[in-house]
Amino acid sequence: MKMQEDQDVVIVGPGIAGLATAVALKKVGIRALVLEKSQGLRATGATLSLYPNAWASLDAFGVSHKLKSFYSPCTRSGAVLRVVHRKALLEALAEELPMETIRFSSNLTSITNQAQEGSSPHVALIKMEDGTTINAKPMGGAWVGHVSPRPWVEPRLQTICDAMHPMTPDLGQNECVALEDALVLGQQLGGLITPKKSCACSGGQSLRKIC
Ligand SMILES: Cc1cc2nc3c(=O)[nH]c(=O)nc-3n(C[C@H](O)[C@H](O)[C@H](O)COP(=O)(O)OP(=O)(O)OC[C@H]3O[C@@H](n4cnc5c(N)ncnc54)[C@H](O)[C@@H]3O)c2cc1C
Repeated sequence: MKMQEDQDVVIVGPGIAGLATAVALKKVGIRALVLEKSQGLRATGATLSLYPNAWASLDAFGVSHKLKSFYSPCTRSGAVLRVVHRKALLEALAEELPMETIRFSSNLTSITNQAQEGSSPHVALIKMEDGTTINAKPMGGAWVGHVSPRPWVEPRLQTICDAMHPMTPDLGQNECVALEDALVLGQQLGGLITPKKSCACSGGQSLRKIC
C-alpha cells in the first residue's frame, strides 16, 4: 500500500553529515526525519582524522566529551587532531536523536518541487522506492548528506558535505567539513524559524558559507 505523509524537514542519508545535521536541528528545536536506504546504520569504515574544526562543531553539539575520553590527541604536520573510529562518531551522534528519527530501508528515488494551491511556497515531494511519498512542508525542506545533487537541485533542497563539495581523502577534511556544514545549517535554519534559538548550538563558533 502506498503511503503519503507530511514532514517538516527530511534529511537523506544518516552518514556523518546527515546525523550531525539532525543533531544541530534538534539543538534549535527542529525535528527532522532521516532516511537511510540500508537496513541499519552504515557504521563500517576505519578511522577518521578529526581536526580542530570538527571538534569545535562536536563541542557545539554537546557530543565531544563522549569521544575525547577514548581518543587521545596527536600531532600531524603541526596540527593537533584525534583519530576516531567512524563507528564511534556515528553512534555518538545517533544516540543524541530520538529513536524514531532515523527510518531505515528507505531508499529515496526522487525529489521534486510542487507548487501549493493558492500560495507561493512550494513543498518538496520526496518519493521512496517502496512507493511512500513524503511532503516536506514550506518551512522545512530536504537535506542530502551524500546523494548526487545534480538531478535534484531545487529551492527547498540543500546539499551539504560530500554531496556538495566532495574532497580527496588525503586532505582528511570530509568528515570535519561534514560537521561544520551541519553546524552552519542548524544555525541558519534555527535563525530563520526562531531567531532567538539560533545561538543554541553556536558555542561561539563563527559561521562559514556552506557552498
Ligand atoms: C560505509 C562507509 C564507510 C566509510 N569509511 C570511511 C573511512 O574509513 N575513512 C574515511 O575517511 N571516510 C570514510 N567514509 C566516508 C566519510 O564518512 C564521508 O566522506 C564523510 O564523512 C562525509 O559524510 P556524508 O554524510 O556526506 O556521506 P556518507 O558518510 O557517505 O553517508 C551517506 C549516507 O546516505 C545514504 N544514502 C545514499 N543514497 C541514499 C538514498 N538514495 N536513499 C537513502 N539513503 C541514501 C548512504 O547509505 C549513507 O549512509 C565512509 C563512508 C561510508 C558510507
